Amino acid sequence: MESLKIAHYPEKILLAVAKPVTEFDADLRRLVENMFETMYVAGGVGLAAPQVFESKRLFVMDCARNEEDPRKFALINPEIIHVEGEQLGEEGCLSFPGLFQNVKRQLRAVVRYQNLIGDFQEIEVENLEARCVLHETDHCDGIVFLDRMTPLKRQMAKQKIKRLQKTGEWD
Ligand SMILES: [Zn+2]
Repeated sequence: MESLKIAHYPEKILLAVAKPVTEFDADLRRLVENMFETMYVAGGVGLAAPQVFESKRLFVMDCARNEEDPRKFALINPEIIHVEGEQLGEEGCLSFPGLFQNVKRQLRAVVRYQNLIGDFQEIEVENLEARCVLHETDHCDGIVFLDRMTPLKRQMAKQKIKRLQKTGEWD
């Protein structure tokens, strides 16, 4: 396993719609393993393929933050088929190091996806896992969490990014 380089905003690949996965082969399994490794090393709970410079519709997540009892999911070609409720909470993104901001998301979601061998599956998620699924599926569509902030918060976030870029703390 290897830890992959993470794309930081405003890398172009983060703002582009990713391509559907059509090959469920060893390369895909290796990518997923490396994405889990990258996510754990970086301390995140979710990571989408465009964040590691791969234009593919897939992401990994583990919101348990518990080595003993992980909740590892790899969702390929995810499609949100139902949402309900609302939650407001702090959100971060490995492509926006050090930036945390309140974002409104749905409370529950049902997502249809393919597993590593291409079988179609569905899971129902809520709370942090719902936030993660919605955030990571957005990455597959070239949408970043800045786009989900209120205009005022987005403006503040962009100013903070500019400051960090100037001091070289953001590359
Ligand atoms: Zn993200």
